[in-house]
Amino acid sequence: MRVNEIFYSLQGEGRFTGTAAVFVRLSGCNLRCSFCDTRHETYTSLTEDEIVRQVVAYPSPHVVITGGEPTLQLTQSLVDKLHEAGRFIQIETNGSIPLDSELVRAIDWITCSPKELPVKIGRVDELKVVYEGQDMTPYETMGQEYRAVLSLQPCDTGDEARNVQLLDEAVCYIQAHPQWRLSLQTHKLIHIP
Ligand code: SF4
Repeated sequence: MRVNEIFYSLQGEGRFTGTAAVFVRLSGCNLRCSFCDTRHETYTSLTEDEIVRQVVAYPSPHVVITGGEPTLQLTQSLVDKLHEAGRFIQIETNGSIPLDSELVRAIDWITCSPKELPVKIGRVDELKVVYEGQDMTPYETMGQEYRAVLSLQPCDTGDEARNVQLLDEAVCYIQAHPQWRLSLQTHKLIHIP
């Protein structure tokens, strides 16, 4: 597998914010988002067993498989091996690639941050919307369809004034639509990976 990096940190975003997790960042993505803040292109080729060996060196049972877009490479056998090692597997996906239903069932938690709608993944546990001021109506519909935990995350645009405006709008939106919760990129706030 093409692995960009494996590192230990706290989950910075979404439902599991603040909890320790091992991050497996797989290389490559099928999309090119203007606000993408991950450098996922470079990689080392690792076998699944090598990935598992690195993951289990850390004490947290929580593994976040992210990217890039992890579903380009994710396999049932890697999920099975991580489960055999007692790990809880969360993936962070853009949802644009259909996944085998058995693999969908095997993953413990699917966080989907859609960049294109409708998404093609069969299950979403958490819908994490990167908020850029867009119409939220389609995400409301999607959240109801999937019965997902709803996280609204102001986009880091790189423009401080715009970021403040998006945060204000997100807070107002959540106050008016309390089924949503605020997701901040807390790892950036506290300067950890
Ligand atoms: S889907 Fe995610 S990883 Fe891929 S380009 Fe967009 S923000 Fe970056």
